Amino acid sequence: MMSKSKGILIVISGPSGAGKGTICKALLEKRNDLYISVSATTRSPRKGEVDGINYHFFTKDQFKEGIKNGDFLEYAEVYGNYYGTPKAGVNELLEAGKNVILEIDIQGALKVKECMEDGVFIFVLPPSMEELKSRIIGRGSETEESLMTRFKSAYQEINYVSKYNYAVINDTVEAAVNKIEGILLAETCRVDRIKEHILDSKEGLIHEQFYD
Ligand code: 5GP
Repeated sequence: MMSKSKGILIVISGPSGAGKGTICKALLEKRNDLYISVSATTRSPRKGEVDGINYHFFTKDQFKEGIKNGDFLEYAEVYGNYYGTPKAGVNELLEAGKNVILEIDIQGALKVKECMEDGVFIFVLPPSMEELKSRIIGRGSETEESLMTRFKSAYQEINYVSKYNYAVINDTVEAAVNKIEGILLAETCRVDRIKEHILDSKEGLIHEQFYD
């Protein structure tokens, strides 16, 4: 039996309104072998959000303390609030061979790319700019001006797609989830991920195939 290799870090990111949150939720409902990292944030909980499940809700001081102690794999300021990925939890899961998803903004994803080169970086794109606009507007409760700011920044952010390994167009949630599962399957078979592991377990593998 081959020993377990390290888990895969999957970073799912893209402009606001592209639907990355919905896709991640559907992916996690479908697959119980994937783990999502719970981020820390200084924004207030929305209705129905639970501390420790949706986010770790931190005060600004707690967050700054975390930054000082080097607790975050990355952190970023998004629309006036801080968001960060706790380092310890992610590393523990990867070491235990679990595949971990980070659903984070583009600034954060680019920082993770600098230190976790073997991560899989997936950029979620809206089906069209018209659709993106109506999704941003559909979230409601914001002024016309702030909606325009979000739309303009989403429009700019699409340029960052070239820094990613994969682009997934979010036509329907189901199709997008299927595409991500396909990416994951291919990534688990990549020789550069499993080479050491196969060579280490070669004797056992031959034994299993020919002598059992
Ligand atoms: P929301 O406030 O709507 O939950 O999230 C706002 C944005 O922050 C989304 O684009 C989300 O992907 C991003 N985000 C959530 N957690 C993190 C994190 O830990 N790091 C970074 N860089 N972005 C995050």
